[in-house]
Amino acid sequence: MPTYEFTCKQCANRFEVMLPSEQKANVSCPQCMCGDLQEVYTVNVSKAGKSSKSDSCAQSDSCPSKRFGFG
Ligand SMILES: [Zn+2]
Repeated sequence: MPTYEFTCKQCANRFEVMLPSEQKANVSCPQCMCGDLQEVYTVNVSKAGKSSKSDSCAQSDSCPSKRFGFG
């Protein structure tokens, strides 16, 4: 299940919730209980993907990044 991060427009509380995407509209601030939220887009995905990719790549001699001396 994806995690979404929101900032409350009323009290500026920042919080994360884990929920199906179709329920994003039903989220309310846990601090002031209002539903006036701004979604915060985080960029962890590309970082995590890069890390796992280099792990599997290191096991192969034909890895291009090894040949060019990266990592
Ligand atoms: Zn709030």
